[in-house]
Amino acid sequence: MFHCPLVRPATLVVGVKVLLLCFVSGNSEAKQPNILFVFSDDHAPQSISAYGSRINETPNLDRIAKEGAIFRNSFCANSICGPSRACILTGKHSHKNGFLRNGNRFDGTQTTFPKLMQDAGYQTAVIGKWHLSSDPTGFDHWEVLPGQGSYYNPDLIQMDGKRKRYEGYCTDIITNNALRWLKEERDPDKPFILMCQHKAPHRNWSPPPRHFSLYKGVDVPEPETLFDDYAGRSKLLQENEMSLKDHFFWGHDMKFHGESQYPEQFRPGLANGEYRRMTVVQKAEWDAAYAPENEAFLQRMKAGELNEKDVIRWKYQRYVKDYLRCIQAVDDGVGAMLDYLDESGLTKDTIVIYSSDQGFYLGEHGWYDKRWMFEESLLMPFLIRWPGVIQAGVDSKALIQNIDYGPTFLDVAGADVPHEMQGRSMVPMLRDQGKPSASWRDAIYYAYYENAAVHNVPVHDGVRTERYKLMFFPRTREWNLFDLEKDPQELTSIHDDPNYAAILVGMQKRYRDLRQFYEVNSAVIPATRGDEQWWRDRDKSITSNARKGNVDLAFIGDSITQGWEGRGKDVWNAYYGNRKAINLGIGGDRTEHVIWRLTHGNLGKIRPKVAVVMIGTNNTGHFDQDPVEVAAGVERILQILNERLPETKIVLHGIFPRGPGSLDAKRLNNIAINQQIRRLADGDRVHYMEIGDQFLEPDGTISREIMPDLLHLSPQGYERWAQTLEPKLKELGL
Ligand code: CA
Repeated sequence: MFHCPLVRPATLVVGVKVLLLCFVSGNSEAKQPNILFVFSDDHAPQSISAYGSRINETPNLDRIAKEGAIFRNSFCANSICGPSRACILTGKHSHKNGFLRNGNRFDGTQTTFPKLMQDAGYQTAVIGKWHLSSDPTGFDHWEVLPGQGSYYNPDLIQMDGKRKRYEGYCTDIITNNALRWLKEERDPDKPFILMCQHKAPHRNWSPPPRHFSLYKGVDVPEPETLFDDYAGRSKLLQENEMSLKDHFFWGHDMKFHGESQYPEQFRPGLANGEYRRMTVVQKAEWDAAYAPENEAFLQRMKAGELNEKDVIRWKYQRYVKDYLRCIQAVDDGVGAMLDYLDESGLTKDTIVIYSSDQGFYLGEHGWYDKRWMFEESLLMPFLIRWPGVIQAGVDSKALIQNIDYGPTFLDVAGADVPHEMQGRSMVPMLRDQGKPSASWRDAIYYAYYENAAVHNVPVHDGVRTERYKLMFFPRTREWNLFDLEKDPQELTSIHDDPNYAAILVGMQKRYRDLRQFYEVNSAVIPATRGDEQWWRDRDKSITSNARKGNVDLAFIGDSITQGWEGRGKDVWNAYYGNRKAINLGIGGDRTEHVIWRLTHGNLGKIRPKVAVVMIGTNNTGHFDQDPVEVAAGVERILQILNERLPETKIVLHGIFPRGPGSLDAKRLNNIAINQQIRRLADGDRVHYMEIGDQFLEPDGTISREIMPDLLHLSPQGYERWAQTLEPKLKELGL
């Protein structure tokens, strides 16, 4: 049968491409297939039987794999909820789509695949968890949970902004609402992409009443690394706050009522909010299932029968059973949707995908949660069934990533993939039964940005090939290297093993190359130094000063600016004491920290007439950023000031010289940065002032009377700075 494509192209280009496809293949493939994208939250592949789970059975998810393909090397780009979703929508890494961490707000005006699918003639719908703060854009129909949403009797935000409460269990409601849209609400004459996005099995792992008693009396197998001691890897692993041992809440996670009876082992303070949402009937069912187990545990605790490891084991069973019960409902829902596709005759024209925003630790390394670049949370399930294209039982080890989903959907639709998308279409590989072409990637790039927030996982990034994984921790400048073939549990970093010296060099090259390829410039990516308490305190105090407003002059920078409060204090008082001036300098800051501060409160209510900016000396001092990258960081700071303080004039200083002599490497870096940033002056709003010669001796050396440590100014140095700056400040109206 020859089908003409059911396409209403918005652009001629798309139309032509689809028609060509139609003539070339001349079979049912040419029809734009529907896409059912079922997406859960925190579903680790090791709890899907198709991936070899030792702990549960997921017959309906397995059905997708059996009738289609399973991808075993499927990875996220940033292992946390919101960022993974943003990567999928945009086809870009986090630093490009702007959604670096939970708590960001997704810029829905940017290019996303749903908008382009609409242009290609598709109906687009998303139902369930969204978690991107702004409203969905590019969808003909949407109904989403507010934030994390609730497991029981959830509210769903409607397209008119109102919230609608549904009685029942969240996973079932999302499944049912998605099915209702399929059955009753969509236009049957158009192809569709339906994104059915579950909250489950996200923390606090609240199961459906029908599965409360699943696994009762069963001991779920423990992971081998349940009692990991974190030796042999970055010292930052020790600082994690996501362990079964120390970081489960008595109420929220472990589902006890009342105050923690064992606060040393079960954190007090966060009750099980989900229980409170339940109806009287639901609560009765809950208590019938949980109370006897809880009571038995408490009795054994009181009798002193349980040692520290026993308690961790008990926590593991409580945690993992609840988690698996949640998954059971997801699997039930997938089964219902597959059945409906069969009954309605949609199966043959519909691609079905199952995925989840990232993996999860099910006790591995003694953890719950995600974030780290270790396998359990780096992996994402990716199961796909495409009747007529993918043969049953395809098993692929190709390295795929969530940034590939958007380009793949667009390719399926016959639409062009915009150049700005960083992922690649998997369609040619899918047609080739999971075999990647020679030009397919041999390594993926990963980055996590949520420093010192919940769970205290450090900022880190890295690359993974089929066999090796390299991780970098900027805070401690540590590399970790793993040979996944010999050490699949990632228990020993071999970065300093001489036998792996060549591998390390090769992986570091891949790391640098991929960062360049994806245009990762740390100097422009907003970053905190939230793991340093003094920094947080100073940041907070700057913000609280700035909230008072009433400022005519602001100094923005690092320790040299902060030093106005130290060695420069008397000079500051003499020149600026009566001029409503504020100091926004923090020692050790790089451009990325200033970018973070200026966009997170440090500008408060100030509307200065003049802002004096001097930043960048730490970018090359402590971290290998290229002068061109640092200059881009300075440029970004000026853009922020332009956006937020359009009336403010900027004095941009060239970075002051440092080091003993004119050939000092760090000084040369500063000179190279200055060569770039001087071009940011426009003679009107931005005034470039390079005053480094004020601090130099005629032979290019720096005297210790001006810079005692050859970097920071003495009182005399601050006097020269103030004197030289003064005429410019007067010129600018101060
Ligand atoms: Ca998640």
